[in-house]
Amino acid sequence: MSKYIFITGGVVSSLGKGITAASIGRLLISRGLRICMLKMDPYLNIDPGTMSPYQHGEVYVTDDGAEADLDLGHYERFTGQPTTRASSVSSGRIYWDVLQKERHGDYLGHTIQMIPHITDEIKTRIRALAAPDVDIVVVEIGGTVGDIEGLTFLEAIRQIGLEEGRDSVMYVHMTYLPFIRAAGELKTKPSQQSVAKLREIGIVPDVLVCRSEQPLGEEIRRKLSLFCNVPVHAVIEEIDVRHTIYEVPLVLAEQGLDEIILVHFRLARPGAKLGPWKTMVDAIVHPAGGVTIGIVGKYSTLPDAYKSLHEALHHGGAAHRRSVEILPISAEAFEAGRIPEDMSRVDGILVPGDFGKRGTDGMIAAIRYARETGIPFFGICLGLQCAVIEYARHVCGLAGAHSTEFEPAATDPVVCLMEEQEKAVDLGGSMRLGAWPCTLKPGTTAFKAYGTERISERHRHRYEVNNRYRTRLEAAGLVLSGLSPDGNLVEMIECPAHPWFVAVQFHPELKSQPLQPHPLFRDFIGAALRRHASRA
Ligand code: GLN
Repeated sequence: MSKYIFITGGVVSSLGKGITAASIGRLLISRGLRICMLKMDPYLNIDPGTMSPYQHGEVYVTDDGAEADLDLGHYERFTGQPTTRASSVSSGRIYWDVLQKERHGDYLGHTIQMIPHITDEIKTRIRALAAPDVDIVVVEIGGTVGDIEGLTFLEAIRQIGLEEGRDSVMYVHMTYLPFIRAAGELKTKPSQQSVAKLREIGIVPDVLVCRSEQPLGEEIRRKLSLFCNVPVHAVIEEIDVRHTIYEVPLVLAEQGLDEIILVHFRLARPGAKLGPWKTMVDAIVHPAGGVTIGIVGKYSTLPDAYKSLHEALHHGGAAHRRSVEILPISAEAFEAGRIPEDMSRVDGILVPGDFGKRGTDGMIAAIRYARETGIPFFGICLGLQCAVIEYARHVCGLAGAHSTEFEPAATDPVVCLMEEQEKAVDLGGSMRLGAWPCTLKPGTTAFKAYGTERISERHRHRYEVNNRYRTRLEAAGLVLSGLSPDGNLVEMIECPAHPWFVAVQFHPELKSQPLQPHPLFRDFIGAALRRHASRA
């Protein structure tokens, strides 16, 4: 029988609940347990696929093609386990399913209500992850206790506590302790009130994880224990980590959080195996130097929009024991023939995925600059499409080359809509999504990176390189280093005449992990390091 850990949040949002949940996952794995992770989000969108990156950050894509919450990225990176369509559920999804069942007559004439129908649907989604080979299901409830939207989720997890028995269920509540400068102290009142709110619903937390910028100290711990009804050893401090989020599991392990969980569930307690994790953290904390990568995109001021990308770059750096400074460069800075000043200290240029025309002229100019000056270049999704447009215009001499996404009547539509996409009406869930196989051309930079001919990578796009231009691009020296196994779709391109110029139609950043840096990010950073050394 699987056990359940429910993680809720209080006081403020952006507490880093996803990272804490993922860290708990890593700790349990290090103790030899088999786990499964689930994110429940109170918003009404069916999934974050149609939400703006400004609102929701990056859309994470799973192997089976779900457009999911970015916390799933943390789960995969921290646990090393793939997530699926079942790993991320929103209120919208729950209501949608219940209402469809109602239309279908599945409720046999009953009045459909929040309790039990919505809560039952939530419980079904949670229990669907329990399995004979899963010891613990770790469930993170999005939002903040006290939100109206989150009530049904809290009610559902309270019910599970009753049904499964309290020693099969554990509640972890995350709070924030503000530091009031004038008083010179950390304040516990918001945490007390947030726990009181939980108890009103009938949930008594077993563990309190406290985010703060200052150490808690004995007195604060005792106060929290008394007022929040949590044993003092279960008041866990999660102080802001100094170097990398991958320190969080170690910070929690130091305070014995994994031990508290195992004791609560009365599970066997083998020693923790955190050796490789510690080695990886050490490589990030003590780098032997650094490189600077410029990301030329539209959301340069919005790190959450490129969450997995930033992480993958850091993994790539760690593979060489180097730190990576990420320099956001607004695509507009490249427009009208300008070269941004920052370029003088950039060792590599990356153009990430995106939608819409804004910024694409700047991206194309940045790619031209990288191609002509020999700066390592990595293009991802839209980055590949812009690289193809750039190559067609400036090397093949097709001045009117464009993507039909930005110029529907382009004279040379080198990037265009895939056939099945022409028919799609809905915006949500209608792209080419999820993992698809790709075959690499031996001898290419791509092949050297992966060391194998057949790979699988995750996609999220509608447009494709137009096959009618393939011969012209190849004749002008562009190498199509990766194709779909049937040869119909261009998945990777590269310029052999360049030190490192690779672009991919998929999103390799989604599969990079700190313990297993993605080969393309590893090699891109490697090339940037060589560039850095030659500049010095
Ligand atoms: N907008 C492009 C497409 O739909 C690229 C998408 C992306 O970069 N994720 O094909």
